[in-house]
Amino acid sequence: MNFLESWQKRQEGKENPYISAKDKDVIVIGGGDTGCDCIATSLRHGAKSITTFEILPEPPATRADSNPWPTWPRIFRVDYGHEEVKLKWGRDPRVFNVKSLNFEGDANGNVTGVKTTLVKWSKDDSGRWTMKDVEGSEKTYKCDLVLLAMGFLGPERSIVEELSVDLDPRGNLQTPRSKYNTCVPNLYAAGDCRRGQSLVVWAIHEGRQCAQQVDADLMGHSSLAGPGGIVNTLL
Ligand SMILES: Cc1cc2nc3c(=O)[nH]c(=O)nc-3n(C[C@H](O)[C@H](O)[C@H](O)COP(=O)(O)OP(=O)(O)OC[C@H]3O[C@@H](n4cnc5c(N)ncnc54)[C@H](O)[C@@H]3O)c2cc1C
Repeated sequence: MNFLESWQKRQEGKENPYISAKDKDVIVIGGGDTGCDCIATSLRHGAKSITTFEILPEPPATRADSNPWPTWPRIFRVDYGHEEVKLKWGRDPRVFNVKSLNFEGDANGNVTGVKTTLVKWSKDDSGRWTMKDVEGSEKTYKCDLVLLAMGFLGPERSIVEELSVDLDPRGNLQTPRSKYNTCVPNLYAAGDCRRGQSLVVWAIHEGRQCAQQVDADLMGHSSLAGPGGIVNTLL
């Protein structure tokens, strides 16, 4: 996040220091949306090369039998960063089934490479997916910059621990169904910290609904607009 955030601020005209990918061999660990933003930003900086490690297998081009409509199609997708790298260097930056083992560095503490192994995914007897390292597949990728984009790990722990807020099984702040109050009186949660990594539209939606619930809890009723700016029902 430091990489993306500091560069965004620079683009807004601020003079803050930022991590530059210029002339660097860049490794992005994590093949999701944040990884894609790291790829595209590195490209704009003028990186020498960009490679992305994804630990999961390459998704199929079309739906697998186990992934029928109307479930979300888990298929191979090409996002803008992947397309841009392919346009520049003629190859998609992602390598799949790759697990990072350790970083390698020089005497000055600079990273010089990432040692990896390929992994093989298979289902165990209970039907759960498990991965195993592929023997003899170790490979070190040379690099000068490693960007970690391995997913949302949940809300900041300090506030959760200080206030002893209950978490759901995924590690997010727990609220009753369709409500925003937590187990701590007068403490409400909305957005990513409550629903997990999501989208801006959901954060806006939840923020508005949460404000409506806070108003109703304090005042006994609320005429605040819910999602979409239309008051359907008064709380
Ligand atoms: C790299 C990246 C790219 C994304 N791209 C998209 C996209 O293209 N489209 C899209 O819809 N969504 C995108 N998302 C997701 C989107 O950013 C989030 O879903 C959305 O910002 C969630 O809003 P939020 O208000 O719940 O949380 P946040 O936007 O994370 O805001 C939480 C704020 O709380 C602050 N905070 C944390 N702890 C404390 C504390 N103890 N005291 C005070 N403040 C605190 C944090 O610093 C932060 O400013 C992206 C996310 C990432 C990481």
